[in-house]
Amino acid sequence: MKRSIAVVGTGRMGSALARALLAEGHRTTVWNRTRDKAEPLAALGAVIAPSVLDAVSAAEIIIVNVSDYAATADILRDAAVASAIRGKLIVELTSGTPHGAREVADWCARHGASYLDGAIMATPDFIGTDAGTILISGQSQAFQENDAVFRALGGNVQHVGQDPGRANALDSALLALMWGALFGALNAIAVCQAEEIELSELGSQWTATAPVVEGLVTDLIKRTNAGRFASDEETLSSIAIHHSSFQHLLELMDARGIDRSVVDGYGFIFQRAITAGQVHGDFAALSQFLGKAA
Ligand code: NAP
Repeated sequence: MKRSIAVVGTGRMGSALARALLAEGHRTTVWNRTRDKAEPLAALGAVIAPSVLDAVSAAEIIIVNVSDYAATADILRDAAVASAIRGKLIVELTSGTPHGAREVADWCARHGASYLDGAIMATPDFIGTDAGTILISGQSQAFQENDAVFRALGGNVQHVGQDPGRANALDSALLALMWGALFGALNAIAVCQAEEIELSELGSQWTATAPVVEGLVTDLIKRTNAGRFASDEETLSSIAIHHSSFQHLLELMDARGIDRSVVDGYGFIFQRAITAGQVHGDFAALSQFLGKAA
């Protein structure tokens, strides 16, 4: 059965979410603080609500996608809106922290609404496609009952746990991984520019090397999960070997006057492991020197 849905916030991402719902025939009401940004959705069949209260009142499911949780609070914590959400499902797809998601979940529970919190692991062009990934956490029953709505948003929308903060926690973990690669790429670009290597060559060499890096990351996660920190017959490379190549990078960067902001953090972590006598351990042993207990 098609549900009536409100999309609150039609910026770049909110508009993509609304378009995907409309494409699957869901009755969709939209509201945006700046009305102009919602207008193109009317041509696709959306009803533009004049106020948040009208949007919330028109729908069974309210999807919120604004810039941050402070904006969500501005929108929802109005007395009339807060009473209108009773008996409805709020799906918060705004990016935030695990703690923030748990707070909104508690607030919704106090106002008689169900709550799911999602982390969108995609850019707007992926929304509504088979490759669209969204991680959702919170009440699993609310997720299962609205399967058709979530399937409209992407082919890989997954429920990742009952704790409403879990999707945001996974989001932050995956972003940490992504920025490791992106800031690493900035470093690689600086090295190539200093050594007068065409960036197109860096691009093609990266394509060839990426599967090796992917294999190393997967191995690191598996070994850490198993606590296999000592080098063994399956070790791909030890801390000593990485550290030695790391010295080459530092030497090159210092010789060329390249900023070390990105790599100095790596140096501190190497040093902790070496001081603790683990230089011959598997690279995964470094995970003991960065986590909560470090
Ligand atoms: P955006 O295009 O800048 O849109 C931001 C939206 O938030 C606009 O609708 C804006 O309304 C609204 N907003 C901000 N403050 C508000 C307030 N106090 N009251 C009411 N509305 C307010 O950003 P976006 O790219 O769509 O991102 C939206 C969310 O999706 C963010 O949490 C972002 O992290 C997440 N996300 C985005 C991407 C992406 O690739 N874009 C990927 C994953 C997750 P106005 O139009 O009136 O300013």
